[in-house]
Amino acid sequence: MNAPTTAPAALPHWELTGIYPSLQSEAFAQAVLDLKQRLTELDAYLIEHGLADAAQPIGSDPIRVKAAIDGYLDRMNALLRLFNTMTAYVSGYVSTDSYDAVAKRWQSELEMLGVRVRQQRLRFQAWLGRSAEALPAVLELDGPARAHAFYLRETVEQSRYLMSDAEESLAAELSPGSDGAWEKLQGTLCSQLTVNFEHNGQIEKLPITALQAVGQHDPDPEVRRRAYTAELAAWASVREPLAAALNGIKGTVNVLNRRRGRRDALHAPIDQARIDRATLEAMLGAMRESFPMFRRYFQAKAHRLGHADALPWWDIFAPVGAPGGAPAGEQVRHYTWPETADFIVTQFGTFSSRLANLAQRAFANHWIDAEPRDGKVGGAFCMCIPALKESRVLCNFDGSLDEVSTVAHELGHAFHNECLASKTPLQIITPMTLAETASIFCQTLSTDATLAAATGTGEKLAILETYLIDAAQVIVDISSRFLFEKEVFERRAQSELSADDFCEIMVRCQKETYGASLDERYLHPYMWAWKPHYYSGRLSFYNFPYAFGLLFGTGLYAIYQERGKSFVPEYEELLASTGEANAADLALRFDIDIRRPEFWQGSLNLIGQRIDQYLAL
Ligand SMILES: [Zn+2]
Repeated sequence: MNAPTTAPAALPHWELTGIYPSLQSEAFAQAVLDLKQRLTELDAYLIEHGLADAAQPIGSDPIRVKAAIDGYLDRMNALLRLFNTMTAYVSGYVSTDSYDAVAKRWQSELEMLGVRVRQQRLRFQAWLGRSAEALPAVLELDGPARAHAFYLRETVEQSRYLMSDAEESLAAELSPGSDGAWEKLQGTLCSQLTVNFEHNGQIEKLPITALQAVGQHDPDPEVRRRAYTAELAAWASVREPLAAALNGIKGTVNVLNRRRGRRDALHAPIDQARIDRATLEAMLGAMRESFPMFRRYFQAKAHRLGHADALPWWDIFAPVGAPGGAPAGEQVRHYTWPETADFIVTQFGTFSSRLANLAQRAFANHWIDAEPRDGKVGGAFCMCIPALKESRVLCNFDGSLDEVSTVAHELGHAFHNECLASKTPLQIITPMTLAETASIFCQTLSTDATLAAATGTGEKLAILETYLIDAAQVIVDISSRFLFEKEVFERRAQSELSADDFCEIMVRCQKETYGASLDERYLHPYMWAWKPHYYSGRLSFYNFPYAFGLLFGTGLYAIYQERGKSFVPEYEELLASTGEANAADLALRFDIDIRRPEFWQGSLNLIGQRIDQYLAL
């Protein structure tokens, strides 16, 4: 077992100069000119071929329609390859140094150019919708159109839910001042909310996110309890503007859904996730049936922390088995960066040499920005650099097991990007439901390996706890958020809701999902106030895709354990196709029927095995 190192090797920053030499370089200036030129040229193309004008008659001659589509696809793919590369490059600077004013100005300029890209795509969608009759004949012929058959069919299908050109254009122009403004208000209120909190013997003024971190992770239960109380009081002080924002967003989305002919608020998110209602119901049903198993975990955790039977909210994330909670004489393992690299490359190698090579290159060629520092964003993400066919990974490495597992997760995304590298930007658009497949898979691989290598009870407990805190959030808490959002949409169609209404629904949904395993005196009535997902006008129900990602990735991992090496090529082929089929068709390749509960129950049973291990310790 390793003791924390006294003089840790420097943590790496990522390498961006392979993309462009610098933001001030001639090459970057040239790329900006090139991007603007391509935008102008595509605008001209849309007009010239009658794609921009709803009144212009559409030929039914497949040869002519095919030529118009092919020309569009070639141009848009080239444009997106450049645009996505530049966006990733600039955000590589902004995300690691929020004081970089030059990078921020470029980011804003690229966002404005991104609006033009969206408008062009919308115009093409409306045109393709009007040309739908010619599409089957077009797809018979070889060429770019046929290579993008899934994208084109989906574009046509979704064009049924567009309002008229004039209405869509008005909605787009009003959006920054309606749902966009409400979303911004919530973001601003939350980022500027501070609380005076007594910590380590002095009163500190903490941003609400820092207070939440204290409330979740502080080793002292009394500090966690006080932080929870202070957090709820802080939300209560801003609940009226937040309730107005939530009413504004959900009201706007309801109107747009109705005017676009959507059946209900779930209709668009289900389509965006590339699943159907039968799938969603099968998954949610299996999740519901698994609640008793998660409640056993929460109750066991309550006992470990000295509560009678139920956890208060402030102990859901509490450290057990981690420093402070480990049995005397045992030290929880701390990883240096070279140890992390070594561990991940070795574990990935047990799966395939291609996966190990990818991780090896990421560590050796500085794809990863690991050092936490002033001005750098929190959390972790992976981004694709299309022009280099490489990825870059950001994390805030602290040597904990949790961070090792985060690096494995993000490198899973990088591997997914590599499997997609030979495809065009329009062929790789992957829904959130499938985007987490490779990352969850790699994370599971890493958790399994750390568990197998763990020797002490405290270490095993820490690994299982880390895993189960996440899994319980994704299954139980996500279920409560789904129920909350569904009821809010339904009731908002009749009238506005008050802040009290939102709190009442939230608490009821928490009782329905966590059951008696949480102390009902100490729930979290203001979860709706701070989760930004509720405040997006463009994406509703940004909750169930998390559960899909976890359970789908876990289910595939189980198949890998059964089948061994023969699974690898099919899995890589699946990752290469996540932008070219719906989820049910992709799953069928592994004889998985996601419309039936059995598959979801199987994945949940695997999580159940971890709970059993946890209970046995
Ligand atoms: Zn992820």
